[in-house]
Amino acid sequence: MTHDFKIDPWGTSAIEDEDYSKLIQKFGIEEITEPLRQKMLNNRFIRRKIIFGHRDLNLVFKAIEKEQPWAVMSGIKPSGPFHLGTLTTALEIVEFQKMGGKAFYAIADIESWEDNGIPWDEAEAAAVDNIADILALGLDPSPEKAYIWRQSKEPIVKDVCFKVSRLVTQNMLNAIYGERTFGLYISSLIQVGDIILPQVLDGLQPTVVPVGIDQDPHIRLTRDLTRRNYKKFFLPGATYHYLLAGIDGSEKMAKRNPNSYFTFNEPYESIERKIKGALTGGRRNLKEQRELGGEPQKCMIYKILMYHFEEDDEKLANDFEMCVKGELMCGDHKQECIEKVLKFIENHRKKKEKLIDKAKDLLKID
Ligand code: SF4
Repeated sequence: MTHDFKIDPWGTSAIEDEDYSKLIQKFGIEEITEPLRQKMLNNRFIRRKIIFGHRDLNLVFKAIEKEQPWAVMSGIKPSGPFHLGTLTTALEIVEFQKMGGKAFYAIADIESWEDNGIPWDEAEAAAVDNIADILALGLDPSPEKAYIWRQSKEPIVKDVCFKVSRLVTQNMLNAIYGERTFGLYISSLIQVGDIILPQVLDGLQPTVVPVGIDQDPHIRLTRDLTRRNYKKFFLPGATYHYLLAGIDGSEKMAKRNPNSYFTFNEPYESIERKIKGALTGGRRNLKEQRELGGEPQKCMIYKILMYHFEEDDEKLANDFEMCVKGELMCGDHKQECIEKVLKFIENHRKKKEKLIDKAKDLLKID
């Protein structure tokens, strides 16, 4: 039976595993071929095939080979603490920065107002918290390696919004996003400014924007408007990762369903309880698990570890095999996952505490 997939950068995207290949075809996304993957084995998300597609990533490689500048750009809506979804994009930025790209990171406070009604002054606390998080994850904030801005305070992104809007009609936005408020349409044009900001500030260069597939409408809009307004610019490229579903097995991590995700700021007991309640690919009882084996490909415990908390590739592969053979039991594996996650978060919080002042400094907030 076929079903309609839905991509909504501001809401719930209903995308099932088999939809990814349809999306690749429908929107002209390029697959990460094996030769390309081999070139990027030090990037964990590419190595583990969490990033499955891209646009114009080859341009980044050409720049690397010729020792020319290139950029990685992404951002966060300051509407709450880091969680597993925001962690993916933040770590992708850090990985690309380590490969030599200058990191550009936007605090999307215009979008958090338009989408969530959070005033800019109220968004400041979340913005500081979010920046301290990405610094604790290893982003190097030195000026030659990173640029961080708030949309509401960055004139360049507003100028780009005005400039490109001359060629934008309501029909065009309607075709990409459906009928939305003008505020959301405007925030999508501000985001065009965010994405081309590396080239406006630092000169022409390839840019890669690591995103979940649900953000592809913004990438397509940006490429179209760059092509028509900034003819000499490189069309911004992108990488696409698989979206993590809710850990309780729901379609997506969502605020209205607190069991579907945990944040980095919530109590350890709450995180532990949620991981204990995560959807696994296990069988009904130990006997069946031993006889039939589990289904790690459907298991959120396996995915949480693979995305973020298991450093060792060999152990991951081994656990997969042991699960399939019925040699690994869900209770033990969940306990291991809880220990790894809590240890990571405890270390992360210690690092982050010391970075709050630096984050304020970078955001020019007293
Ligand atoms: S053993 Fe581990 S990987 Fe396998 S289904 Fe259970 S929790 Fe998931």
